[in-house]
Amino acid sequence: MKEAVRDFKESPLYAYRLKNNYKVVFGEGDVNAPVMLIGEAPGKNEAQAGRPFVGAAGRVLNNLLESVGLNRSDIYITNVVKDRPPQNRDPNPEEVALYSPFLEQQIEIVQPRVIVTLGRFAMDFILTYFNLPEKREKIGALHGKLLEAETDYGKISILPMYHPAAGFYNDEVKATLQEDIQALKPFL
Ligand code: URA
Repeated sequence: MKEAVRDFKESPLYAYRLKNNYKVVFGEGDVNAPVMLIGEAPGKNEAQAGRPFVGAAGRVLNNLLESVGLNRSDIYITNVVKDRPPQNRDPNPEEVALYSPFLEQQIEIVQPRVIVTLGRFAMDFILTYFNLPEKREKIGALHGKLLEAETDYGKISILPMYHPAAGFYNDEVKATLQEDIQALKPFL
């Protein structure tokens, strides 16, 4: 599957990747992890490194994980969209539709017990994908709450969180992130 994403010429983001010498950001971590984290799309740092969450948002995220005793190697982490959209804009619906089969396969492979969505965008995607009754609710109402989803391999939990980038400049959001991640403890 990695090669298929790398050679994904059908994507409008493919030419942009080549032109800028960016890398595809597939995802990384433990494919047997009980915890899977899903962000939106790679930023510039990530596209340069070919790794998810290595920039400022990644540093916030690493601290959050550490606070519940987790290392990056203990989890699996990826994004809905695997290539950087220009100017950090949100991925558009066409891009999400193109890349989402890869994410769906990654979920099938990892079979996590809990999926943490980072930001509104990943939350909306995952809640819609699993057809949760909460799928039309806002992140302000759902962050930090463990939701239940039905998968082919049984019931799992979904934990919506704010995007760690939002905690970079805002101490209130940072405190909320810190509180919300505690909900992972029963899964560790
Ligand atoms: N923001 C995301 O949503 N994903 C990354 O990998 C980095 C920043």
